[in-house]
Amino acid sequence: MNLPHSQPVADFSDYRDDFPALQQSVNGQPLVYLDSAASAQQPNAVIEAVASYQREDHANVHRGVHTLSHRATESYEGARDKLCNFINASSRAEIVLTSGTTESINLVAQSFCRPVLKPGDQILITWLEHHSNIVPWQLVCEQTGAELIVAPINDRGEVELDALYELMTERVKLLGIGHVSNALGSINPLRDIIGHAKQAGITVLVDGAQGVPHMSVDVQSLGCDFYAFSGHKMFGPTGTGILWGREQLLEAMPPYQGGGDMILEVSFEQTVFNELPYKFEAGTPNISGVIGLGAAVDYLSGIGMDSVLEHEKSLHAYMVTQLAAIEGIRLVGTAENQASVQSFLLNDIHPHDLGTILDHQGVAIRTGHHCAMPLMQRFGLPGTARASLGLYNDRDDIDRLTGALEKARQVFA
Ligand code: PLP
Repeated sequence: MNLPHSQPVADFSDYRDDFPALQQSVNGQPLVYLDSAASAQQPNAVIEAVASYQREDHANVHRGVHTLSHRATESYEGARDKLCNFINASSRAEIVLTSGTTESINLVAQSFCRPVLKPGDQILITWLEHHSNIVPWQLVCEQTGAELIVAPINDRGEVELDALYELMTERVKLLGIGHVSNALGSINPLRDIIGHAKQAGITVLVDGAQGVPHMSVDVQSLGCDFYAFSGHKMFGPTGTGILWGREQLLEAMPPYQGGGDMILEVSFEQTVFNELPYKFEAGTPNISGVIGLGAAVDYLSGIGMDSVLEHEKSLHAYMVTQLAAIEGIRLVGTAENQASVQSFLLNDIHPHDLGTILDHQGVAIRTGHHCAMPLMQRFGLPGTARASLGLYNDRDDIDRLTGALEKARQVFA
């Protein structure tokens, strides 16, 4: 059988041709893009879906009776249906379209937590979290008198599960946990963690910004209550994101913002809110972006997320072996279950200097704290260099990375 998921790993290189940004040279060298955890490149299918809407169908959604508005609405709502299937949500009412993971988490903090939290309650997170899964909880804790507590991690960058489970007392009202660490690549054992949280009666939000682009996600079988992710990390446009939430929880939550589209009826005396998911979608949305995101979902579904994960795991293993062979390399983040991301340091070269030298050789990596300052503090580091993979990367890219690092090592010797 020639199903997409049975493709040999090497075939993945062919997907690179779908990404026009990867066909260019940077600083005189063919571009090697290893910064997909920050933002992934977009395939032609996404670019064309956005352009086609802008060329032919541009109009506002939901409110118009004319043909262009109908077409725009159909494509926009069609993308919601695709997202619903992609993560196996039980209903399209559960797919709230936002501007990204950050807005999705803030929405839960303000609409789910703020009305019910009181002094003495706790929100539980881990040391692995991105600032987007820290600061919204800090804000709501300040607003309500609740407390933010943090589960420790070990030196490999794995959550200490026993300690996490001990912190799951009846005081904890919500656990906010990343699916995959953007800085270290650690994949959390979500089923176990969510199982324990549910036994303790704790609502669980998963920050899936680094999960959905790299593996198959089934929100129903995961058993969490909210799952947040971003379009631009899954090969879609920036300014798009999703909050998936259980329908009965979303139903009970007050709106996040007020404005057009989230209402059924407005008078000066009172407003009747729209049904789900529109209750949470005030104002004109990012129509072109969401249509592009729908195309990204089609693209990923065509490849198959299980084969994306397999490809990236194999490539990550190769990257680790090749990096480890470089004299003076220190890998930061060595979790047993890790994919798509590797942080490292080279001798005492500042990560920003390393990033600049690599850029001169056409290799794009990210350097700094990766929006995870507490995590960097945990390792006693101001930052790291980070190479992150997308489905379009291959072993040649890794070889270019290690070659560029060897040069950097010699420059700073
Ligand atoms: N959470 C994680 C784990 C991330 O990696 C990111 C982005 O890097 C975010 C949240 C925030 O995503 P966005 O900026 O798209 O809202």
